[in-house]
Parts: sequence; C-alpha cells; structure tokens
Amino acid sequence: MSILSTLQEQIIIPDHYLQLSQEELETKVAEAKKRLGSRLFIPGHHYQKDEVIQFADTTGDSLKLAQVSGENTEAEFIVFCGVHFMAETADILTTEKQKVFLPDMRAGCSMADMADIDQTERAWTKLQEIFGDTILPLTYVNSTAAIKSFVGENKGTTVTSSNAETMVKWAFNQKERILFLPDQHLGRNTAYNLGVGLDEMAVWNPITDTLEYDGDYSKVKVILWKGHCSVHENFTVKNIQEVRKSYPDMSIIVHPECRREVVELSDAAGSTNYIINAIEKSEPGSSWAIGTEMNLVKRIIQSHPDKHIISLNPHMCPCLTMNRIDLPHLAWCLDRIEAGEDANIIKVEDNIANNAKLALERMLTFNN
Ligand code: SF4
Repeated sequence: MSILSTLQEQIIIPDHYLQLSQEELETKVAEAKKRLGSRLFIPGHHYQKDEVIQFADTTGDSLKLAQVSGENTEAEFIVFCGVHFMAETADILTTEKQKVFLPDMRAGCSMADMADIDQTERAWTKLQEIFGDTILPLTYVNSTAAIKSFVGENKGTTVTSSNAETMVKWAFNQKERILFLPDQHLGRNTAYNLGVGLDEMAVWNPITDTLEYDGDYSKVKVILWKGHCSVHENFTVKNIQEVRKSYPDMSIIVHPECRREVVELSDAAGSTNYIINAIEKSEPGSSWAIGTEMNLVKRIIQSHPDKHIISLNPHMCPCLTMNRIDLPHLAWCLDRIEAGEDANIIKVEDNIANNAKLALERMLTFNN
C-alpha cells in the first residue's frame, strides 16, 4: 500500500481516545475482549509495543500469526496488531467468514512499499529482455499482496527469514536465476550462505529502472531488488566495532535484514524466532548484543534478567510504523467492531488474493 493510499484510508480516531489514561484504555480493551470472547482474536507481532502485546492472544512472526488466525475459524474478528502487509496475508489465509482489521491504517512497512507492482512489472519486462525465460521471482513475506500475487502468477514463491535458504535452493532447481524482492539484504545474505558469490549478484534499481552490475550479465545468478528495512539498515560495522571494543566477550546476534558486512562480522544471524531461541537457550551470565527491532530487544532484556543484553545500536528506535498500533487505536478498533461498523478492514481483491495464495502455498507445502 502506498503512503498516499494509506493516508486516504486512515480514519482519524476521536480525540477522547487519546485523552484516556493508560489504565482507562487497558480496562476498555480488557472489557471489550471479554465481551467479544472467542469471536475475537488478536495476533501480535514480536515488534509490537508492550502496551499492545499484553492483549495479544498469540505472538509471533507475520506468517505464523496469519496461519494461526486462519486456523482459528471460531474467531470472526481478527484484529491484527502488526503492519499492513501482515494483515493482508492474514486476510488471504483466513476464511470468507472472518474479517481482518488493522487498528491504524497508517501502520505500513517502508520495506514493502519499496516494491510496488508497476515498478515490478516494468522490471520483469526488462529482465526478461536481458535474461530471457531464466528467472524465477521470489518475495520475502514482507511485501504487499500485489507483489505476492505477481510472484505466484509467475510460478515463484514467498520466503520468510526462517526458510529463505530452503526456498532459494528450491528456486535454483526450477530456474537458472532468481529475482529476490523486496529486501536486498535478506536476498544477499541468503544467497551468499548458499555459496553464490557477491560477483554473481546484480541489483535492480526500481527508481532508475536499471540493473546495477559491472561485468558480464551471463554470470548473474541473483537479481536483488534494491529495497531494505529502514530499521535493520541502522545497524552498522561501527556498532559492531564499538561492542567488540567495550565488551570483548559479548556475542553479537543480528537479523538477516541487516547489511551483508554487519552479518559477516556478527557471531550469528537469523530470524526473530532464531534470535529469541538463541538467547533463551544461552547460559545464565552470558552476554549479547542484539541487532533487531527495539521493542523486541527490550522485551528480551526484560525476560532475561540473568543475562547481560544490549541493543547492538545504543541509539536504536523502534519501528515507527509498527508503533502506530497503540492502545488508543486498539480500544477504538474494538469499539467499532462492537458497534457493528466495518472500520479499518483489510480486504485483498480476490484475483490478487488467489495468486498471492499460490505463492504462499508453494512455500507452506514445501515446509510441511
Ligand atoms: S521492522 Fe522493517 S520490515 Fe519490519 S515492519 Fe518495520 S520497516 Fe517493515
């Protein structure tokens, strides 16, 4: 969803929700949850803030939340506490009888917005001219439904940060090359781990509609879309050097949405679940610098008082768009549901949903 359409769809919540105290809002949400009972399901992404996550019926990454929402057929109202593309995936994987709500329509994702469908179709035409029918498109689940649909229609698949290596391996059994949307860093880190050289990776620039690559195109195996996560790009080599200097025994663990050079210098890299599990399993007294979203890092710190844990970047802020979901918007959204109003519903058009589902199912079938 573009920034413009996001703003157009957003309903400004009445002022009085913003004037209520935290306690009043918590009471309101708790009571609404009680009244709606099993008709309501609130999935909460790992990066949501504590004031919201305390009301989540389940927490996890975007795909798990969408899958669990679809399995919970008793729930008519899925109030997705995450960002727009996640709510779209939930809508695609839930039944016709379930409605998916996003408490604040401005909760988008800058990475997903870096690949729009017009840019992607233009790129595809040009890439086919250069490479012929040798490319399979793959998209990180952090992308719009329209991009997932494009990928599904062109026989490709979605990937998560947990299964990216498996899915890229699968893709190379289908075609000679892959186009990896929209996160260049996850694409580069994944392909590199599978033995693809950096000199075999080109970058597609969607702003200039050009392929950035110095050399003979026949060498290219991976075409990386020039997108990134504005949160994870903020972890730098300098951050790593500073941690190594101040805490020589500290382990550094980062998300693969970080730049290649940051991943290279870290001790470990993996999805949010991988990071959570690694810290969980580590010895009491161990020390960690974590390179991922700040709300999650803070929660990990609170859950492990027996370990010394810091953010890899001491000046890191939470993901701004994730943070749009707050108690006032959650309380307002539940009130609208109880009033029988269809405010902030996420509904993906059928033709887009059907093709996007193909891309998701290729991955899910493979995983099962
Ligand atoms: S953390 Fe990055 S990828 Fe996740 S929602 Fe925020 S901008 Fe998007």
